[in-house]
Amino acid sequence: MDSIEVHIFSDASIVAYGAVAYFRYVNLRGEVGTSFVMSKCRISPLKKLSLPRRVFLWTDSEICLCWIKGSAREWKQFVSNRVLEIQDCTSPDRWKFCPGLENPADKLTRGENSHTLLNDSVWWQGPVWLRAWVKRFVAKLRKITCESGTLSAAEIKEAEEYWRNLACQRTIGASGIINEKHPAILPKSKFTDLIIMSEHEKSFHSGVVSTLSRVRNNFWLPRGRQVVKKVISECLICKKYALKPTKQLTGQLPRDRVVESPPFAVVGIDFTGAITIKAGDQSCKKVYIALFTCAVTRAVHIEVVSDMSVKSFIFALRRFFIKKRWLQNYLFR
Ligand SMILES: [Zn+2]
Repeated sequence: MDSIEVHIFSDASIVAYGAVAYFRYVNLRGEVGTSFVMSKCRISPLKKLSLPRRVFLWTDSEICLCWIKGSAREWKQFVSNRVLEIQDCTSPDRWKFCPGLENPADKLTRGENSHTLLNDSVWWQGPVWLRAWVKRFVAKLRKITCESGTLSAAEIKEAEEYWRNLACQRTIGASGIINEKHPAILPKSKFTDLIIMSEHEKSFHSGVVSTLSRVRNNFWLPRGRQVVKKVISECLICKKYALKPTKQLTGQLPRDRVVESPPFAVVGIDFTGAITIKAGDQSCKKVYIALFTCAVTRAVHIEVVSDMSVKSFIFALRRFFIKKRWLQNYLFR
């Protein structure tokens, strides 16, 4: 076989869509042949698929948003290439900012276990405000009069209530109003945690009792105290204020270190390593330094010692005594 190619033909109509594949080969003698490989066809879905005409793109990175909305030439090559590609595929006007906490895609990059995702309303239905948009969109489709422009507080609240009712096992009074008398039961879910955290923040990071009482204005939490306590324990701001600075553990200082005395009355002595110095005749020689440290004031006295012998040390000690004359009375009285 000299060469082999695959050719695929595809088509779609209102009733069905499908594809068929063929091999085209040329053998060593130069003869061309073709062969059917496989085909697949499907009936078109009964429900007509409509492509969304309005696409909105959200990101929680203000820097990226600035890149996309700016001119690609302004940025460095790496960023510029990617921005150009994004601008080719999408219109920069379609890109909008979304806070990181409300960005469902954040869960993909942060890593979330499947159990948490299962009960996560933001994951399944998108951010609350998006649902408010959805409600307005539905109202428009049903030709119900609704507001235009940015979402109003009432619309957001209404959407919140709708989705909350969906998440809660509802126990609502005849009037449909959730209050202390007819609270909604909040199951254990991410939605519940968000409600608790929202009340905790509204009450300026108050404690468990206060947060719980605020939540109980509208909801009933089974094992409320425990749940609220757990959510508050994860609040970063509270954590920051509750922490106490650590103190280093130190042993008791010996008596000589803490009782008042003249400088160098109690000393510690040590030698440094060898230090090379220039002697008078341009040659180099090794010397050492005897370090006298005062145990009470931490003052330091240094003496140069020619070698590590006892004789040299005694000389250094004598020089030290001479320079600190007051010690002689103190030490030898
Ligand atoms: Zn807090």
